[in-house]
Amino acid sequence: PQLRIPMPADPKSDTPTIVRLAVPSPLRRYFDYLPPESSDPAQIRQLQPGMRLLVPFGSRKLIGILAEVADNSNVEPARLRPAIAILDKEPLLPPALLKVLTWAADYYQHPPGEVYGSALPVMLRTLAPARPVMGWRALPVDAPVIPEPIRRAPRQQALLAWLRDNGPVAQPDCIEAGYDAALLRKLAGHGLIEQVPVNPPGARLAAAPKADCRSVSAPLIPNPDQAAAIDTIIQQLDGFASFLLDGVTGSGKTEVYLQVIADVLKRGRQALVLVPEIGLTPQNIQRFEQRFSCRVAGLHSGMSDSERLENWQAARQGQARIIIGTRSAVFTPLAQPGLIIVDEEHDLSFKQQDGFRYSARDLAIVRARHEQIPVILGSATPALETLHNAGIGKFTRLPLQSRAGLAELPGISLLDTTTDPLQEGFSPRLLNAIDTHLGRGNQVLVFINRRGFAPALYCRDCAWVFECDHCDAQLTVHQTPPHLCCHHCESRAPIPASCPNCRGKHLATRGMGTQKTEKHLMDRFPGVPVIRMDRDVVRRKHGLRDILEEMGKGAPCILVGTQMLVKGHHFPNVTLVAVLDADAGLFSADFRGQELMVQQLMQVSGRAGRQSQAGEVVIQTRHAAHYLLQTLVGHDYRPLADHLLTERRTAGMPPFSHLVLFRAEARDTRSPILLLNRFRELFEAAMRSNPSAALGIHGPLPAPMERKAGRYRAQLLIKSADRSRLQRILSLLMPRLEQFKLARDLRWSVDVDPLDLI
Ligand code: ADP
Ligand code: ZN
Ligand code: ZN
Repeated sequence: PQLRIPMPADPKSDTPTIVRLAVPSPLRRYFDYLPPESSDPAQIRQLQPGMRLLVPFGSRKLIGILAEVADNSNVEPARLRPAIAILDKEPLLPPALLKVLTWAADYYQHPPGEVYGSALPVMLRTLAPARPVMGWRALPVDAPVIPEPIRRAPRQQALLAWLRDNGPVAQPDCIEAGYDAALLRKLAGHGLIEQVPVNPPGARLAAAPKADCRSVSAPLIPNPDQAAAIDTIIQQLDGFASFLLDGVTGSGKTEVYLQVIADVLKRGRQALVLVPEIGLTPQNIQRFEQRFSCRVAGLHSGMSDSERLENWQAARQGQARIIIGTRSAVFTPLAQPGLIIVDEEHDLSFKQQDGFRYSARDLAIVRARHEQIPVILGSATPALETLHNAGIGKFTRLPLQSRAGLAELPGISLLDTTTDPLQEGFSPRLLNAIDTHLGRGNQVLVFINRRGFAPALYCRDCAWVFECDHCDAQLTVHQTPPHLCCHHCESRAPIPASCPNCRGKHLATRGMGTQKTEKHLMDRFPGVPVIRMDRDVVRRKHGLRDILEEMGKGAPCILVGTQMLVKGHHFPNVTLVAVLDADAGLFSADFRGQELMVQQLMQVSGRAGRQSQAGEVVIQTRHAAHYLLQTLVGHDYRPLADHLLTERRTAGMPPFSHLVLFRAEARDTRSPILLLNRFRELFEAAMRSNPSAALGIHGPLPAPMERKAGRYRAQLLIKSADRSRLQRILSLLMPRLEQFKLARDLRWSVDVDPLDLI
């Protein structure tokens, strides 16, 4: 047992004696150090949580983030090492955000070092000297007189005065402020300013030239639903409040966000907007930039490290008034936080699926509470958890019942493929419908949730199916360039000429992927552009931009794609949406499978007829009588969600219970199960000594796809109706689980509120 050994406090000073840091390490704990020996006491007295310190860690030097200054430690005084240096003059992370990080490390049972680290841009987390951003500063002068060479150059005078006021300013910020590079060079030529590296970690950017955040394009006139939503939110901008903006696709949720943000900006505050994945970000940033005169900063994975750092600093220091980012942007520090929006809150990308397995949507709510600001979750198809929370009064539900402007919801029809036989995945009736819509000069969207050419390659002579050597999975056939690929471990192989089993030469593909669909449509509709949108295309540089550009032209074309199509894109000329196969999700093994299918189908249907022209949706299925599909036709998400919620309640699954999933994997089948069995015993023992802690313990069992990338995987599921009780037991047991000696290649992880059990 560890003892708390009080440190003899130095009565002469209030200098902190211990610094408690989050240090990047896989251990689930904070690390105590002594303040650096060389620093002057005044600097040590000014230490505040959120500053970075350089510390010795084993034989390495690491950057830790100060979580707490304390005067005692559990570690024996003789074993405490001093930190090496204090790296910042002021905290990089504000107090409310630090509280969120501490909470998250606790709740998700994840090492604090990694959790805190996710709030800093890479360039502030590493010691490698970053290539500095260059900027400009005025050379010091004795008196602020106007120098002779620029007496008659008012622009140069203004620039010089501005730089004198603001100290070193990064070049991009100068340009943003309206001073172009030529002007800067002129002043430098007169020897009045010089170029210096700016933005070293923790440095201040210049205060923006009086950011006035006017609306530059006029707001639309809100319809009554929008007006009601805007009013309700605006009346509650001064403290924590949570809203569910529950609006059908195309109902103008973005307009609601924009008008609420206008109010937030007027109050001198910032808005943080979280969006799913990169697909949405470029379009979204434009919409916000067109509306407001202030700086809108993006934060997403498509940016370079220095761009990220720059925008992060602009958010932290308040130059950026609107911050739009993906999942990890929930940790962006804000100078004057005013509002958080989670757009398409049901989207799975808000949950990180490895390492620090947090939900950005859930943390947005936690953060809003700590910042005392409102949070808006928006979706046409809210997650069942979210609907449940709205139902029990945790969120204020703001419905937008109809499409904004003139657009109407498209008609949905089911096409029974048991009676309408398919050719290459298409029924003749669907092909006719495509013909008709193209003939009217419109665009068509074809949804197929499988990338590649075909999901299987087999031998016609002996029925051999090509499988991945490392996973329990079939290999997908790709055509550009031709190869076989495993979608689970990314391993690749050439397409063989003959069957390895019978040497036969009659190999054939089975099933449809986006590439085969694309090829078939090109053959069937010669002269009509067929555009493919899946991960393989979007991964290319400019892949997504090219697609959006081509669609933006508005000429007739067919867009074939995976779930990427679903993600909130606004294609005004699409009037027909075709879903090639709705059935996979109907009988999914995972508890969230049907919810996901319903959301995808509603969202993809929502891409049709978003402008004045009426839209149509055709869904091909072998189960046209299925309750979920029949209900979907009515466009009403609520009865579908209620149906699924009832099933969840019966099964005792979330949101009616809370889950923690332990996953273990190794090169052999047995050791993951053995380890999880010992975990199970600990949970059982904890339950015996605390009978009120009724936990459901399921497993350990092999994962549904047991072998992946050459490793065997098993899982143990812990379930409880009481979240805080589950949390307490988990916190109690985690230190013991961590102490198990593991074989070298055995690994395990814990996932609190897992999205799937796969
Ligand atoms: P959602 O995000 O709910 O799917 P959007 O915000 O993309 O919907 O809006 C869909 C379309 O409706 C956009 O073209 C938008 O400009 C338009 N729109 C939104 N609100 C109004 C309004 N009050 N009057 C007219 N058009 C509107
Ligand atoms: Zn064969
Ligand atoms: Zn594989």
